[in-house]
Amino acid sequence: MSQLEKDIRYLKGVGETRAKSLAKLGINCLRDLINHFPRSYEDRSQIYPIFDAPFDAPVTIRAVVAREPSLACIRRGMELVKFRVVDDTASVDITFFNQSFLRTRFHTGETYLFYGKINAAGSKRTMANPAFELVDADSEANGKIVPVYSLTKGISGKMMSGYVRNALNELGHDVPDALPPKIIEEYKLAQARYAYENIHFPADFGALELARKRLIFEELFVLACALSGMRSGRQLSGGKVIDSCDIEQFYSSLSFSPTSAQRRAVKEALGDMASGRPMNRLVQGDVGSGKTLVAAACIWSVCRSGRQAAFMAPTEILAEQHLETLRSFLEPFGIRVEKLSGSTTAANKRKIRDALEKGEIDLIVGTHAIISENVNFKDLALAVTDEQHRFGVIQRSALAAKTEKPHVLVMSATPIPRTLALMIYGDLDVSVIDELPPGRLKVDTFHVDESYRARLYGFIRKQVGEGRQVFVVCPMVEENEDNELELKSATEHTEHLKTVFPELNVACIHGKMKAKDKDAVMSAVVAGEIDILVSTTVIEVGVDVPNASLMIIENAERFGLSQLHQLRGRVGRGKHKSWCILVSDAKTEESKERLKVMCETSDGFKISEHDLRLRGPGDFFGSRQHGLPEMHIADLGGDMRVLQSAQAAAHKLLADDPRLSKPENAALRERIKQLFEANSDMMN
Ligand code: ADP
Ligand code: MG
Repeated sequence: MSQLEKDIRYLKGVGETRAKSLAKLGINCLRDLINHFPRSYEDRSQIYPIFDAPFDAPVTIRAVVAREPSLACIRRGMELVKFRVVDDTASVDITFFNQSFLRTRFHTGETYLFYGKINAAGSKRTMANPAFELVDADSEANGKIVPVYSLTKGISGKMMSGYVRNALNELGHDVPDALPPKIIEEYKLAQARYAYENIHFPADFGALELARKRLIFEELFVLACALSGMRSGRQLSGGKVIDSCDIEQFYSSLSFSPTSAQRRAVKEALGDMASGRPMNRLVQGDVGSGKTLVAAACIWSVCRSGRQAAFMAPTEILAEQHLETLRSFLEPFGIRVEKLSGSTTAANKRKIRDALEKGEIDLIVGTHAIISENVNFKDLALAVTDEQHRFGVIQRSALAAKTEKPHVLVMSATPIPRTLALMIYGDLDVSVIDELPPGRLKVDTFHVDESYRARLYGFIRKQVGEGRQVFVVCPMVEENEDNELELKSATEHTEHLKTVFPELNVACIHGKMKAKDKDAVMSAVVAGEIDILVSTTVIEVGVDVPNASLMIIENAERFGLSQLHQLRGRVGRGKHKSWCILVSDAKTEESKERLKVMCETSDGFKISEHDLRLRGPGDFFGSRQHGLPEMHIADLGGDMRVLQSAQAAAHKLLADDPRLSKPENAALRERIKQLFEANSDMMN
């Protein structure tokens, strides 16, 4: 066992109680501790002459204690330790509040570094509760760059850096380097020991930069190696061969002609499935670009060859719509399509599972959970997953783990940078649908505030008067959320709209409703019986109502850009001129900027770029929606260049030593193993 695994409780200065506090930060052993990187740094490296020190920001001064500290009790429960310090230029009165033990700490003639904010009090300068450090009067002692850590109750910053110091001292050179020497050399990276020392206690900013660079590279490199390893098992095993068939036969049954982008994507997928290797293809296309048809063509081809397919949707409602769409495409060819969902009765579920096992159903449609759970197929050859903008690494691997090795087709509406896509989706091939079906009209988008409400309602009336339908989306109301934000919860807003429009049919749909009730509402909407549909974001994904021409989004500032773009894609799907109105009173620059992007741009790719830039990748992907392990130091969106070189390095190394069995790669193999263990829920 390496020293790194040593229980944190046995580290000098820690003990049982503090070990418990540290555990709250995820720190259980020395390795965790040295990987608890500083959140930021305080620059105490520049020492100011007192006279020249600025007043507005914390500074470091080097001064001599001019008088023994005095203790004053200014009122009950408020004690002051006070003393004066001087340098060659001026003096400062230092005060500590409620730390009477410090009185005996400082002595006349001693030299200290003090770090804090200087205030001007009349002609005097003061500094309250500074950080301090005793220095040798004669030395050229320099201030430092001091780490600032994320902390928890019971652990101060000083304690934390003390522990890290002790850990690094204890480990000495026993910090295994996960990067093989050749890579360190080729990419001119710092050694592990140097990097850990300088990420915590930088000698100077240059050293800090070297340390950061090395650790970011290492983190991405280890991840790239791990993902690559996951994939290689999948890649090697043979895929079912789907003989190519005359796809024109399928196309000619459609009421429209597929776009050339759709044809290209289908051709690429059919090529994969005929190749003998398992397909692993991502189809990327903006909302409304017609990804479902691409899936349908592949399913058609698979089912024609007598095998089975599964189609997985992220939500129940969407599964229902896909069922309808796919039936209309496929049933004319005698292909048997069924749905398996949470609302399917137990008896029916049994029947459907049975039929799937016997091969009496050709295509099963449902949510991810339903299909990956104990369903057995007679001959599953293709699994399609519609992820929209969620990334179901976990669900997908659940299917891939089945004994069968189906071809996998993933559909995503989120245009993400290619390198990132490679990380998230594995070593897959990508088809991009970069063309919308003909005749699509741009959805005019406006940002309005409350003062516009009356006119907005006039506009709703006008649209419905012309026979159109209207969507109104309200943010989800979480139970623990602040009511003062006055979010328009979907149900309340529905009641409100019913009183405003007594003559219209207003309905509501939200995630807490029973699937059966949701279905009833959706069918009524599709049938044109509902004029205004109020919803939470459940309609975000996929629902197709060509007659809808107006999308109103309440509290629009609460949504991410990509989400707004998805919502907007719900209108403008028919032949009618369509609008999207973003209602928001938000005053912050960031919100205004985001809404402006929506009004000016209709290109999903550009929008997601803005989203990345404005919110950072963490938020962009939501609460770890990318399904990758949490990064300690690397930024999956921002460190794109490093990501690329880390990936290239990983591929090269694995080509040379696929099982990492060479001695120089042993430490790397160990690290990857730890990564899998720490994320076993995600990687299995
Ligand atoms: P998405 O890529 O967002 O999943 P869909 O597959 O739901 O898009 O397609 C959006 C709409 O466009 C559907 O109503 C579909 O029938 C229609 N559609 C798809 N392809 C074409 C095409 N080539 N020509 C005309 N309409 C099309
Ligand atoms: Mg879709």
